[in-house]
Amino acid sequence: MQSICVYCGSSNGRQKLYGNIACEFGRRLVERGLKLVYGGGCVGLMGVIADAVLDAGGHVTGVIPESLVAKEVAHLSLTELIVTQSMHERKTIMAERSDAFVAMPGGIGTLEELFEIWTWGQLGLHDKPCGMLNVAGYFDGLIAFLDHSVNEQFLKPVHRARLIVESDADVLLDRLATFVPVQTRKWIEPGKQ
Ligand code: AMP
Repeated sequence: MQSICVYCGSSNGRQKLYGNIACEFGRRLVERGLKLVYGGGCVGLMGVIADAVLDAGGHVTGVIPESLVAKEVAHLSLTELIVTQSMHERKTIMAERSDAFVAMPGGIGTLEELFEIWTWGQLGLHDKPCGMLNVAGYFDGLIAFLDHSVNEQFLKPVHRARLIVESDADVLLDRLATFVPVQTRKWIEPGKQ
């Protein structure tokens, strides 16, 4: 594992703790020799984690569509800033450049990115691990819903298990590093359950 993609809020969130943990997570990446890939913004938790990695001497690749550069939210001091034509191209490059994906607290942009990459794994388009850093129980309600989805048999336990949820950064990074993908199929053959 060399590069981690982090999806997180373009806002700071209500509690100062979110920023503190984003900063801490950035430092942990550098300690482990991991590069950060993220959405290239200078705002919210995105800016916090990018600055933390840079301040600790790490490597940050930002991938941002030109429409957001035009709105002046691009971080202009990154190791590398890739400007794309579209959001789709951005997400493809972020996926290709990363060995694992982590969602930290954020809004619908963060959730959309996590769910897309997790879905790509479910469909067998990649076998990289996806994780969630559940800071201060931020994702508790969502995790409860995902377990409800398993109970209602819309989400298979094996696919649910592909999302690694931890509240401790080191435990999460250890689990991502040792993740072994299980070969599964999304679809059940006709006549089999
Ligand atoms: P949200 O969680 O809704 O704040 O959106 C954050 C996610 O969406 C990030 O992981 C980014 O990839 C993308 N995003 C949303 N707003 C911005 C922004 N102002 N600059 C760069 N990326 C953004």
